[in-house]
Amino acid sequence: MPIIEHADVRRMLLDMKARVEGIRALAIKLAHHQDCAVAAEGKDEAKHSYHAGQVDLLVPLVKAYGSDQGFHVCETAIQTYGGAGYTRDYPVEQYCRDSKIFSIYEGTNHIQAMDLVGRKLGQAGGANLQAYLADLGKFVAAHSAHPKLGDAVKRLGSAAEAIGGGAMRLLGWFQKGQLTLVPLTANRFLEMMSETTVAWLLLEAAVIAHDKLEKVDAGHPDHAFYTGKVHAGLYFARNVLPAVQYKASLMEMEDQTALEIPDAAFATV
Ligand SMILES: Cc1cc2nc3c(=O)[nH]c(=O)nc-3n(C[C@H](O)[C@H](O)[C@H](O)COP(=O)(O)OP(=O)(O)OC[C@H]3O[C@@H](n4cnc5c(N)ncnc54)[C@H](O)[C@@H]3O)c2cc1C
Repeated sequence: MPIIEHADVRRMLLDMKARVEGIRALAIKLAHHQDCAVAAEGKDEAKHSYHAGQVDLLVPLVKAYGSDQGFHVCETAIQTYGGAGYTRDYPVEQYCRDSKIFSIYEGTNHIQAMDLVGRKLGQAGGANLQAYLADLGKFVAAHSAHPKLGDAVKRLGSAAEAIGGGAMRLLGWFQKGQLTLVPLTANRFLEMMSETTVAWLLLEAAVIAHDKLEKVDAGHPDHAFYTGKVHAGLYFARNVLPAVQYKASLMEMEDQTALEIPDAAFATV
């Protein structure tokens, strides 16, 4: 039996496809904002500052989530191949080791997460985050009644609410001087915002692909491509997005166990 017929192998393949395509879309979204910011500079100040603000907000997501997930995808690729993946017969074991450095370069990904929560969320008086949430809200409002993708888009709306709530909680910690909670939560918040953004971009692609599918028959060379886009969006919305709300509920717990444990007690016995 070919391994692609096993349910768990199919799950891993779709998981990798969704993450790779979603993170590529995230990097391209960032580049698009950068191009628009440069084009508007000196001509339309409001447009320039909107796009430049979105660049500032998305840079830590692209750097940290992209590099963390690159390693995660390579590890899943080894698992998909089984023992053959662990050996040097296929290139994935080399990709896995090589990709681990990406989250360590430039001061490690935690520094990117601290940049997001410590500087970027509050930048321009919070206007960049507000604009991001407004763009996301417009997409949710436009497509939550979609016949095929509506439920997935509604899940995106719930994740956006969790991001807004998480940002308010972080702001509260800053205002009340509960600063130890910020670095304990920064990586988790970056992950929540990245997963929400990736889901948004995958669903945007899925909506377009769904429209295209109504115009091409099964024999068309692009049929599988469009079908893949719809499935990647649905998979990510159903399997990754619900974790954003869960992670927001973990923020409510305000757990500080990692700080409370004495240094000597880290030793394993
Ligand atoms: C193969 C390779 C190539 C490299 N190439 C370059 C290069 O071309 N140019 C360049 O400039 N650098 C390069 N570096 C260095 C790279 O930038 C550093 O490895 C990286 O900044 C992490 O620093 P560190 O290794 O000293 O770890 P440390 O700074 O000691 O970090 C150890 C741990 O402590 C945490 N930590 C450290 N400081 C803080 C802090 N202030 N707040 C919270 N947590 C903290 C980190 O997140 C990490 O988990 C390279 C490194 C490698 C391994």
